[in-house]
Amino acid sequence: MSRSYNFSAGPAVLPEEVLEQAREEMLDWQGSGMSVMEMSHRGKDFMSIAAQAETDLRELMSIPANYKVLFAQGGASSQFAMVPLNLLQGRKGADYINTGSWSKKAIAEAQRFCEVNIAGATPKGEFSVPAAETLQLSADAAYLHYTPNETIQGIEFPYVPDSGDVPLAADFSSTILSRPIDVSRYGVIYAGAQKNIGPAGLTVVIIREDLIAEPMAGTPAMFNYGTLTGADSMYNTPPTYAWYIAGLVFQWLKRRGGLDAVAVVNERKVRALYTAIDQSDFYNNPVDPTCRSWMNVPFTLADAELDATFLAEAKDAGLVTLKGHRSVGGMRASIYNAMPEEGVQALIDFMAEFEKKYG
Ligand code: PMP
Repeated sequence: MSRSYNFSAGPAVLPEEVLEQAREEMLDWQGSGMSVMEMSHRGKDFMSIAAQAETDLRELMSIPANYKVLFAQGGASSQFAMVPLNLLQGRKGADYINTGSWSKKAIAEAQRFCEVNIAGATPKGEFSVPAAETLQLSADAAYLHYTPNETIQGIEFPYVPDSGDVPLAADFSSTILSRPIDVSRYGVIYAGAQKNIGPAGLTVVIIREDLIAEPMAGTPAMFNYGTLTGADSMYNTPPTYAWYIAGLVFQWLKRRGGLDAVAVVNERKVRALYTAIDQSDFYNNPVDPTCRSWMNVPFTLADAELDATFLAEAKDAGLVTLKGHRSVGGMRASIYNAMPEEGVQALIDFMAEFEKKYG
């Protein structure tokens, strides 16, 4: 067996310990005589797996008791619709901050249901976030939505926008669990699992209880937060195996010392990688240094003609899925929690060698 260092933006690397435990338990989960994949979601074995995962996530993120946690489906993309459908509550509009590709998708979806006021935006061609004091919130917005980490542009907010009494909704898909956050600042937090949580197919939603109310008329049951929370994420058959793996990831994070400890490691990883990029004339990261992502690091080579060679030689060195998103070009190294420090160091060493050879 040979595992590569996988820098994919998602689905992404999972902790090796978690995969080994899943393999160990694949055919017979803890004496149950069956795989987790084969269990009824309403049986006591799966119910215990589900409950433990929620307890562990609550502990890791210090989720206050007045928040519900959903283990849902439909990806972050469904949340782009669920947030307006459930949070508009008769209001005409919502505020959105536009910092990149995923903000734009959220905005486009919200525009199907309401007027979107752009409270702040990254200027075209720039890689930055609008300064906190420049945000222009409208008086009667139902909520303020933003994308704390833009997976494609590699931009991460260095601050939490102040939305006052208006609920703050945040797409944490690519940065959840990378460091501690203050959940009480948010109305709704959501994340597709396939980056820092577990396998694709699971979507985690954390929502303040008082925001759960009758959604817009015509909202499908599966898009109604009340239906899903009222049934403890089991209104229909949930993505049981993904939920189980997410639970193993939460336990792995706890064994590592929780999010404070994880953040220390993540900070070391990003510091090493950005330093390597900044110290070289051959590599460039376009993002304003005050808002560089901890999880997704795009970079270009001085000569784009070398991109294919870089990717091929990186692959031979066991470093895979480094191709950048087509809209940004160059490379992108996603270094989620499960990417070991050795993986980041291997990338840095490879980049230095490559520069020596071709730079
Ligand atoms: N938001 C962000 C920040 C993302 O990175 C992604 C996926 N790359 C999405 C939303 C879309 O997520 P999903 O595929 O789970 O719908």
